[in-house]
Amino acid sequence: MEVEKSPPSLREWDELDLVPLSALQHYSYCPRQYGLIYLEQVWDENIYTMKGRWAHERADEEADKLREDVQILTALPVGSDLYGLVGKCDVVELHNGIPYPVEYKHGRLKSSIHDELQLCGQALCLEEMFGVPVVRGVVYHISSKHRREVEFTPELRRQVWEVAEEIRELNASGVLPQAVYDARCTDCSLQESCMPEVTDGHLSQDWADWSEAKRALAVDGS
Ligand code: SF4
Repeated sequence: MEVEKSPPSLREWDELDLVPLSALQHYSYCPRQYGLIYLEQVWDENIYTMKGRWAHERADEEADKLREDVQILTALPVGSDLYGLVGKCDVVELHNGIPYPVEYKHGRLKSSIHDELQLCGQALCLEEMFGVPVVRGVVYHISSKHRREVEFTPELRRQVWEVAEEIRELNASGVLPQAVYDARCTDCSLQESCMPEVTDGHLSQDWADWSEAKRALAVDGS
């Protein structure tokens, strides 16, 4: 049975318990990916990470082209004492003083809960910093120039908190999660370091069972 997590509360966070906004994205995509990056300091560049970096570098340039009737803040450092988050917003549009975070992603339009969690994390930080509710933001897909609006529902906010708490638990344990070799691995920049074909616990168990069965057959047949 899953233990219910305590709700967010204002506190003095230990620096080690502050969760980077990008970690919400990495952890929700794959806890092992998070562990490799943040616990083992592994970072492998591939076409996806290069595109991602390029997307963030483009953010300032693209922001200038956004509507002229909104104030634009770029590369804004943010944090939340309530949720224990820290990071940077690519672009924040100010609509009559109300912040509206915009997260730049490479590629075409694609709905992704991982991006939404990161964006919602930004919104939670902005709410505290500006003292106003932030109810919507945008994931901007550079290739298609599509702005996908995301609503920061109570459910999404709860998920941000739960993922942040799971990350803190993982940090405290210091144990790198086991790989799960599935479709996510195809696009993962850490595939070479992770080696999910051999580090997946289920596959390893299957391999162990198979080896055991083979040994038993060999003994019986002798
Ligand atoms: S290769 Fe697969 S299991 Fe390993 S970190 Fe990437 S997504 Fe996770």
